[in-house]
Amino acid sequence: METVRYCLECGEPLHGRADKKFCSDQCRTAYHNRLHAATNQYIRQINSILRKNRNILAKLNPSGKAKVTKEQLLSRGFNFNYHTNIYETRNGSRYFFCYDMGYLPLDNGMYFLVHRQEYIG
Ligand SMILES: [Zn+2]
Repeated sequence: METVRYCLECGEPLHGRADKKFCSDQCRTAYHNRLHAATNQYIRQINSILRKNRNILAKLNPSGKAKVTKEQLLSRGFNFNYHTNIYETRNGSRYFFCYDMGYLPLDNGMYFLVHRQEYIG
């Protein structure tokens, strides 16, 4: 028994090949355009958060090494949910990086800020 499939864009029933997903080229194009628009917007939002994080770290760390409070980061709009990568030292310290600027959470609610060049050759 054949299951009825529907166009992913307009919902019309599909006829023909079993792997068909759209009733027409127009529907295929419209669907992918919409998908890409949403994806691109999402990527732009994440990029902008990462850039902002990076700039906050750079501002607070003009010399390449600094110690700051969580409040200093949060009050500038730092978003701890986003980073580009993690660098773990041999002794188990985990630095979170936003591009070239990184931070290491310390025990006392402080953060040690670093610039990547000092750690990765
Ligand atoms: Zn369609």
